[in-house]
Amino acid sequence: FFLSQENTIFFLLFSVNLLDSRTVMGDLGWIAYPKNGWEEIGEVDENYAPIHTYQVCKVMEQNQNNWLLTSWISNEGASRIFIELKFTLRDCNSLPGGLGTCKETFNMYYFESDDEDGRNIKENQYIKIDTIAADESFTELDLGDRVMKLNTEVRDVGPLTKKGFYLAFQDVGACIALVSVRVYYKKCPSVIRNLARFPDTITGADSSQLLEVSGVCINHSVTEEAPKMHCSAEGEWLVPIGKCLCKAGYEEKNNTCQAPSPVSTVKKGKITKNSISLSWQEPDRPNGIILEYEIKYFEKDQETSYTIIKSKETAITADGLKPGSAYVFQIRARTAAGYGGFSRRFEFETSPVSVAASSDQSQIPIIVVSVTVGVILLAVVIGFLLSGSCCDHGCGWASSLRAVAYPSLTWRCGYSKAKQDPEEEKMHFHNGHIKLPGVRTYVDPHTYEDPNQAVHEFAKEIEASCITIERVIGAGEFGEVCSGRLKLQGKREFPVAIKTLKVGYTEKQRRDFLGEASIMGQFDHPNIIHLEGVVTKSKPVMIVTEYMENGSLDTFLKKNDGQFTVIQLVGMLRGIASGMKYLSDMGYVHRDLAARNILINSNLVCKVSDFGLSRVLEDDPEAAYTTRGGKIPIRWTAPEAIAFRKFTSASDVWSYGIVMWEVMSYGERPYWEMTNQDVIKAVEEGYRLPSPMDCPAALYQLMLDCWQKDRNSRPKFDEIVSMLDKLIRNPSSLKTLVNASSRVSNLLVEHSPVGSGAYRSVGEWLEAIKMGRYTEIFMENGYSSMDAVAQVTLEDLRRLGVTLVGHQKKIMNSLQEMKVQLVNGMVPL
Ligand code: AMP
Repeated sequence: FFLSQENTIFFLLFSVNLLDSRTVMGDLGWIAYPKNGWEEIGEVDENYAPIHTYQVCKVMEQNQNNWLLTSWISNEGASRIFIELKFTLRDCNSLPGGLGTCKETFNMYYFESDDEDGRNIKENQYIKIDTIAADESFTELDLGDRVMKLNTEVRDVGPLTKKGFYLAFQDVGACIALVSVRVYYKKCPSVIRNLARFPDTITGADSSQLLEVSGVCINHSVTEEAPKMHCSAEGEWLVPIGKCLCKAGYEEKNNTCQAPSPVSTVKKGKITKNSISLSWQEPDRPNGIILEYEIKYFEKDQETSYTIIKSKETAITADGLKPGSAYVFQIRARTAAGYGGFSRRFEFETSPVSVAASSDQSQIPIIVVSVTVGVILLAVVIGFLLSGSCCDHGCGWASSLRAVAYPSLTWRCGYSKAKQDPEEEKMHFHNGHIKLPGVRTYVDPHTYEDPNQAVHEFAKEIEASCITIERVIGAGEFGEVCSGRLKLQGKREFPVAIKTLKVGYTEKQRRDFLGEASIMGQFDHPNIIHLEGVVTKSKPVMIVTEYMENGSLDTFLKKNDGQFTVIQLVGMLRGIASGMKYLSDMGYVHRDLAARNILINSNLVCKVSDFGLSRVLEDDPEAAYTTRGGKIPIRWTAPEAIAFRKFTSASDVWSYGIVMWEVMSYGERPYWEMTNQDVIKAVEEGYRLPSPMDCPAALYQLMLDCWQKDRNSRPKFDEIVSMLDKLIRNPSSLKTLVNASSRVSNLLVEHSPVGSGAYRSVGEWLEAIKMGRYTEIFMENGYSSMDAVAQVTLEDLRRLGVTLVGHQKKIMNSLQEMKVQLVNGMVPL
């Protein structure tokens, strides 16, 4: 389930044996004293290999103190080690003669030492690890006339500070056979994640410690955000942060970067005195769909001033060139993975000014100079005529020169780069949108007159024949959502999700449907759902995205109630916050952030999804019409956005707080069954959701911060990400939970006891929440009325024998829900 190549949390538990008594062929070298205490049974297995079983059974004799010492065990640098014992222990009742002295436990000790010389130490120098008793985790061994139970017990020791240690087993009068001893440590195995290599990492000394490990970018990749992961005490890699990206010219494939091959054949076409036409062939190994070509050219020996043209075709005409001059061209292709390498240099020459008049080749330079001087003079005269001041003459000069030097400035999708002019180096023209490098902003598809143009600007067209639809996985507002596979040229087939536009759509529906792709296609972040492309040239119209195996987060959490560690939940929240930080940096306000709009994959990576224009809120079943006419998912929305439609990244932060609450309560519905009107009123009056059960106080505090009435006081997404990172780095900070009694007492402020009218009896209530099996226990222990039930605490439940955490939660949450409904409010701020 968790083993996969993707981004975040995955589980590859790895332990390394320091000793396994079952695999030692020769003498173990263990010492027993007194000599008549523990003894090795000289048995061999079917391959005649010794089975190192030690036994002792002095149950009839008083004052037993039998020690068995292992040989020195190197810890190989590990500071926490685990000891797994397999043993049988006779039940004293089966030994009537020894009942007075018979014991059913033995003790395990250790002694640390840097070398093997430390063996002759006194008993009292050993440190006790634990008393070992047989428990229920046994397997039955059929020994012919009787059945023995083989117990397995594991203990851990740490932090260790020396190079090795001895173990000792002390018997005080039991009947034991120690069948095997395995000593091991855990490590997070070396792995490549997000194109960064993480080394084999021995887990930390503390059982709750997460070690932050830095990754190193693999060959041909560079750091985008410093890659890090956390090695847990259990040997799991958790919560990857940051990533590397393949360098320009290299494509990511199977966790490596291999370059797509450069364009190798370039042919010249028509040549005039001012232009050169070129055509070329697709690279031999495109390694993906070629999105466009970049053609760089410059006058020979003038490389500092060059022009770049981008083209989706395999031919261009470079114009505005100097007559009779040699130009150098280089071409590279771009796929979804980035640019390939530039081709070798191809050199072509424009025609001289007038071939007819140039029979005497020596005259060409004179003609070129005269024509150039003529052009310049003409520009000066025109500039002079068009303007009235000296300054304007200068500008006229500059612009006419620029038009010669950087002809592609006027080209639709081109950008120009000239070392002499730093201003121009930063200029990037993109369909009328001027962008500064490094500050990418979201472009509202509404700004395009033709929405089809927007979708093709930001989304790749995919041929329907490349898609195999497998099954329906959900229903979207515009049609079914299916899972399937996508096979792109030069790439392995991979799973995708496919949203379809149902037949009979209106033009507006088509526009709105594809609007989501126009938005999604602008984003590139590991926590934002990735758009593969669209199908618009055939029917049905489709949007193809990466496939998220675990579907939407709210459903997934409800299905897996109570199954994750706090760190795993925080990892999910960190991912969502990181995606939201990216969106807010891009200037995109989501407006419908909720767990149902987060998708989660098999590695528990959460990605923000559901982008749209006005339709976002229309297709959300949670969205309700407000008095002002808009449709808003009330429970997730900040008060200022409900009241006067002030949607900002700060209102997204409020929604993020609600998502935190949903995650920590495993998909509970915010404000339970309260009506939207009651929610608005309670929030307006300063009430807030109470902490979910077992929620770390630091996380609940963060939720409350997100729910500050003053939107400027709420944390920003980058602050949320750093705060969660800090908690992940220091998991002990998550150990302080919101005090259960304060949680409940907050809810009990000014309200009548539970049960008045809601349920007629305890039995009816428990049945309603599918916990009917506990009715008898509740009644027998005096919880026979709903008023009495109102006083039940978590401790009471445990005492009553409700030991399953899931059941405890169900009961406590139901109680809480009833109480909240009665107070018609939540935790007052
Ligand atoms: P939507 O229209 O985006 O709300 O999608 C409807 C449902 O389809 C979601 O709630 C998910 O269960 C499922 N779904 C949508 N996109 C994906 C995806 N990329 N991977 C897996 N399931 C998806």
